[in-house]
Amino acid sequence: MSEAIHAATLTLDTHVDIRWPDPPDATQETDRCVDFPKMQRGGLKAVVFIAYTPQGPRDAAGHQAAADRAEAMLRHIRTRADGVARHFCATADQLEAAHQAGALAVLSAVENGNAMGRDLARLKLWRDLGAIYLTLTHDGHNDLADAARPKPALGDGTAEHGGLSDLGRQALAEMNRIGLIIDVSHAAKSSMMQAAELSRAPIVATHSCCRALCDHPRNLDDEQLDMLRAKGGLVQITALDAFLRPPGADGKSPATVADMVDHVDYAVRRIGLDHVGLSSDFDGGGGIPGWANAGETANLTAELHRRGYGAREIDLLWSGNFRRLMRRVQGMAG
Ligand SMILES: [Zn+2]
Repeated sequence: MSEAIHAATLTLDTHVDIRWPDPPDATQETDRCVDFPKMQRGGLKAVVFIAYTPQGPRDAAGHQAAADRAEAMLRHIRTRADGVARHFCATADQLEAAHQAGALAVLSAVENGNAMGRDLARLKLWRDLGAIYLTLTHDGHNDLADAARPKPALGDGTAEHGGLSDLGRQALAEMNRIGLIIDVSHAAKSSMMQAAELSRAPIVATHSCCRALCDHPRNLDDEQLDMLRAKGGLVQITALDAFLRPPGADGKSPATVADMVDHVDYAVRRIGLDHVGLSSDFDGGGGIPGWANAGETANLTAELHRRGYGAREIDLLWSGNFRRLMRRVQGMAG
């Protein structure tokens, strides 16, 4: 029963990292958690691949290097689609059309607003290259916002801006204007709450879990979840073990796919099914027994079905809610 639901559902994973530099031919089976053969095998139909840049020095050279890398990665991700078996998608309509055509969907996003430097025009460049969202920070504060996990090696204190900087506020306004989704995973609670207040459009945490179940700085507490609901936003529960269950005496988290669905259940009970989605953070630290790579994606649908979610609910969790959010954000642009 869950197999048929899984086969029919537009399964979208909203956060997957890529190797950089990436081998030019990404169509073969690889040692990565996600490649196209594993997506086919696991029934994972759509993936947001990430143009990620680590937080580094915030001088002109550091900003330029990050900007160059983010742009090159976005251009590269587009080349993973051939327009036949794999469609590059930058809107919800394109995503749904790819699914209708039986093609895999390739989407892209930028992780770490640091790659913008102080040049707001880069946001429009990224959107024009097809990026659907920008994660405001990674680990370490940047010129836009404070991060949930500061980087003391870069001179970070606990807080730098007290949330968003003036530049960060300008970036949010520009993202609303051009229809680039604001991602608050990795952002400090102060940054996240201010972004939710300021943004005209709904915001999303593309790869975070629930702090009430696992007290990790990358997770969202109940106040943050409630704020997401109030603003029409989404939390995309992710398959990263340390966000799901605290480590045991051996330093390893015992989290499995059942723990992931515990977080889904918690978020659904707290803020409603319409505000919850799914992601893996594969190839960026994600992967748990039961959903260790894209080839095992059907196991997550099976666990959701076992917990009582039907076809409609499973569609909303896997992509229906995110498609609605894409349409809201892109429809409010301009
Ligand atoms: Zn991340």
